[in-house]
Amino acid sequence: EAAAIPLELHGIRREMVSPASRKVCHVLQEAGFKAYVVGGAVRDLIARIDPKDFDVATNATPEEVRHLFRRSRIIGRRFRIVHVMSGPETIEVSTFRALHDEDTVTDEHGRVLHDNTWGTIEADATRRDFTVNALYYDPTTETVLDFHHGVADLKQKTMRVIGDPATRYREDPVRMLRAVRLAAKLDLALDPDARKPIREMSELLANVPAARLFDEMLKLLSSGYAVVSLKRLRDEGLHHGLLPLLDVILEQPQGEKFVWLALENTDERVRAGKPISPGFLFATLLWHEVLSNWSARKERGEYPQPALFEAMDEVLASQAEKLAITRRIAGDITEIWALQPRFEKRAGKAPFRLIEQPRFRAAYDFLRLRAESGEIEMALPDWWDDFANANTDDRETMLVADK
Ligand code: ATP
Ligand code: MG
Repeated sequence: EAAAIPLELHGIRREMVSPASRKVCHVLQEAGFKAYVVGGAVRDLIARIDPKDFDVATNATPEEVRHLFRRSRIIGRRFRIVHVMSGPETIEVSTFRALHDEDTVTDEHGRVLHDNTWGTIEADATRRDFTVNALYYDPTTETVLDFHHGVADLKQKTMRVIGDPATRYREDPVRMLRAVRLAAKLDLALDPDARKPIREMSELLANVPAARLFDEMLKLLSSGYAVVSLKRLRDEGLHHGLLPLLDVILEQPQGEKFVWLALENTDERVRAGKPISPGFLFATLLWHEVLSNWSARKERGEYPQPALFEAMDEVLASQAEKLAITRRIAGDITEIWALQPRFEKRAGKAPFRLIEQPRFRAAYDFLRLRAESGEIEMALPDWWDDFANANTDDRETMLVADK
């Protein structure tokens, strides 16, 4: 029942998939198993987008895969897969999964909790989320197996859910976010059937564990398509009351300019292949929350310095319930925020100490963004730029007396 799409139609030559994924497929096939590059990488290659990573699907069990590759390990509980390390790459190898049946374990809202029953490639294709994600590329024969007309949907620029959209969203509400994010990235229209249930079902996202939502938000924000993705989330009504973070991004008048500038910046960096820091990103998204919390405290007569730390804690805590920001990233965020008031001190020893801070660069970039958005004078980051680039003697003469 799968269409075997030839090279002329899909355009993926075997050199276009990563060396490690090719090798993993080859080793598995030599051992008598089926093995394909699958999912996002195939979709992106057909859409002429650089894939982020290459995943492999096989009929070998995780244990069988583990035995074929010395540098590999089995990970995951809800969804067991094997990580195979090869050169600088890590390939995720997953075993074909069966479709859900009465025995599938779900929570009281119908959310699927485990997915470790092995099945055929047909079943594996059908349990995937979107038709454009159910494509299997064999690097040996250079054909794509297409079970749900994904190639045609991709060419017609339509994002379609496999099966009944409402059922699939109930099984895993994160699929609603994925639909919007992937459609934005691939510039596809959401099929009306896929789109309609989202408004009524968006509240199911409240049952998704905070750590998983954090992963998904991080993916969205660091995809290189954050600005379009967020605008489309707003169009689909997927932000309101769902995540405090999204309300902050999409509904705050004061910080709006700052947030969109930061996101545009991030998108540019990602598309240019430069690294981005999640801490920096989340620090920008929540900055105006911190500012307003902080000024309320100062108006109540609290001392500025401790008030800032209280404000930072409160803002991070308000996100924690629905979005589990990891401890390490929370640390990065706090450092960037805490350094901001220190840029105002341009006298004495303070500036010399500040430029020696390991986080100076990130904090400075953050300061510049604040100026670009009009929150503060551009003269301040300009001064710091000159100061950081001056030699020691000139630095002394640049110091500004305390006012
Ligand atoms: P990205 O470009 O963000 O990596 P992706 O589609 O590759 O997008 P992954 O999270 O890497 O996303 O997932 C790999 C594949 O696994 C998908 O292409 C899809 O076939 C399947 N998949 C991922 N998440 C789900 C889900 N929630 N429900 C069903 N299938 C999923
Ligand atoms: Mg992927």
